[in-house]
Amino acid sequence: MNDRNPQSFETLAIHAGQAADPATGAVVPPIYQVSTYKQDGVGGLRGGYEYSRSANPTRTALEENLAALEGGRRGLAFASGLAAEDCLLRALLRPGDHVVIPNDAYGGTFRLFAKVVEAWGVKWSVADTSDPAAVRAAVTEHTKVIWVETPSNPLLGISDIAALADVARTAGAKLVVDNTFASPYLQQPLALGADVVVHSTTKYMGGHSDVVGGALVVNDDALGEELAFHQNAMGAVAGPFDAWLVMRGIKTLAVRMDRHSANAARIVDLLTGHAAVTEVYYPGLPSHPGHEVAAKQMRGFGGMVSFRVRGGEEAAVRVCDRAKLFTLGESLGGVESLIEHPGRMTHASVAGSALEVPADLVRLSVGIESADDLVADLSQALA
Ligand SMILES: *Cc1c(COP(=O)(O)O)cnc(C)c1O
Repeated sequence: MNDRNPQSFETLAIHAGQAADPATGAVVPPIYQVSTYKQDGVGGLRGGYEYSRSANPTRTALEENLAALEGGRRGLAFASGLAAEDCLLRALLRPGDHVVIPNDAYGGTFRLFAKVVEAWGVKWSVADTSDPAAVRAAVTEHTKVIWVETPSNPLLGISDIAALADVARTAGAKLVVDNTFASPYLQQPLALGADVVVHSTTKYMGGHSDVVGGALVVNDDALGEELAFHQNAMGAVAGPFDAWLVMRGIKTLAVRMDRHSANAARIVDLLTGHAAVTEVYYPGLPSHPGHEVAAKQMRGFGGMVSFRVRGGEEAAVRVCDRAKLFTLGESLGGVESLIEHPGRMTHASVAGSALEVPADLVRLSVGIESADDLVADLSQALA
């Protein structure tokens, strides 16, 4: 799957960073629920472990695994996706720097730029990242970061990672790809030229709606060191149990993503041409404007589907309320199917901005239940 490790993704997901415990032979890394470590004489650290904010063996196992799955050299695990983003931005940006952000992004990412990072003197502007020329036009002499989410949340926009990597290289900026929606099984941004991969491991990586976590993966050793310094200096690390849960989720990532993608395709079949639906957003649809790019840079189209409901906002809210098997809730990427109204829920924080989403939009996180049962539930909710 990547140059560095000849093993395939499915094998790495289960084995990378997960050698049997040397002390006991335990076949999965134990939860090292510990804050500090006995030193063999002052400074005599065993395996480099000193204090669990700096490093913890369970977190190390996850971090090595994350690096292998993204084909990177360094992985870092955080307490949440936003903690990972915050660490990255504070490591890369200084007052006066400029960032290009997408016009379709996770609401919390937008809020971090607009309400937190901006107050520290960092400028940002919004561009349609599905159009590399628009991103090039948004770059200034102060641009240090180009941020992209592909597929994007919640409109499933597709951006050409390789083309944007060229734009970033020419601008002397770093290309950051939020790979949460695809997961490394479907898409590997570093191989396409990205500098940094961001994850909310809360979503597909964890996969079971039972943990909040985040990750950064990079290919450059110096940048990896810089991020590790900031991770320790700021301290928003993944705890041992959370790291263990994410690792357990990752072992089945490949089979889950295949099933998420197959079930989403069935749901898209139902929605396309349905009398109650005016538009369907899914990169697997040949009519999707990013379909060709998605087919080139992804090995499947994933489990996220959005659509617009005839009758406007009230009708969209009614569909969400009437679904039974699709649980009404925020978040995504778990084995159970979820439905939500982005305008009033996940994306309420972008209302009135350039990132505002249509009021009649419904977003689905298609789970891995029986596709027949999911189709039946959505049919009754749309009836
Ligand atoms: C959820 C999410 C985040 C934020 O991650 P948290 O774990 O909730 O902090 C960032 N990007 C995307 C695309 C997300 O879906």
